[in-house]
Amino acid sequence: MASVLVVEDDPFVRSALIRHLTALPAESHTVRSVGTALEALREVAHVRFDVVILDLGLPDLDGAEALKMLRGITDVPVIIATARDDEAEIVRLLNAGADDYLTKPFSVDHLSARMAAVLRRARAGTGEVPPSRVLRVGGLTVDPLRRQAELDGAVLDLTRREFDLLAYLAGRPGVVVPRRELLAEVWRQAYGDDQTIDVHLSWLRRKLGETAARPRYLHTLRGVGVKLEPPREAGAGAGTGADGGAGPRP
Ligand code: CA
Repeated sequence: MASVLVVEDDPFVRSALIRHLTALPAESHTVRSVGTALEALREVAHVRFDVVILDLGLPDLDGAEALKMLRGITDVPVIIATARDDEAEIVRLLNAGADDYLTKPFSVDHLSARMAAVLRRARAGTGEVPPSRVLRVGGLTVDPLRRQAELDGAVLDLTRREFDLLAYLAGRPGVVVPRRELLAEVWRQAYGDDQTIDVHLSWLRRKLGETAARPRYLHTLRGVGVKLEPPREAGAGAGTGADGGAGPRP
């Protein structure tokens, strides 16, 4: 699920694109569309999109010019859509800051695959999601590419933020991650409210079927941070003990 800006002047192509992007049940993106480069520039100046699909044949500005101006305002991923299958032109635009391209006419599957690839790269680039390998912590599996997490084989129904939080922690099993780091890496904020993290942690905890009083995977160390680690089941008393969480104070 992403928010997409479609820049396309042909009403037929435009409505087909919107239909495709909003209809895919697995993806159902939010889509806004405009018909000129200037409108597109106005949009990206005010709204944060996850990806822009930019038609190169717009009535007001040349595609390369439009791309250059977009890049002057935002680093949003841009997929250029061109009717010209001109390799030199495409290479030039990729060098000028386009993230990927589609040659018209393109299929829904093709569009969908390109979008997924661009979004994946964008997320990896911001550190929002750890490397693309599948992460395993005990019975927990986190697949950053498919953005899917499972617990003991059952798929977890997580929000985007819950997933990002879980993926970030799963990439560092057994390590206490400071709240400051979570804010910066998961929320992309330099400062913020501890409650935001607490609320998301408690939602995530509920979905993992555990509680703060009886943690299995998620351990909150008051005033320090959070860590994710495999549960210590066998009679050890629900995750307390060896990590010092409930042990005697020095
Ligand atoms: Ca056009």
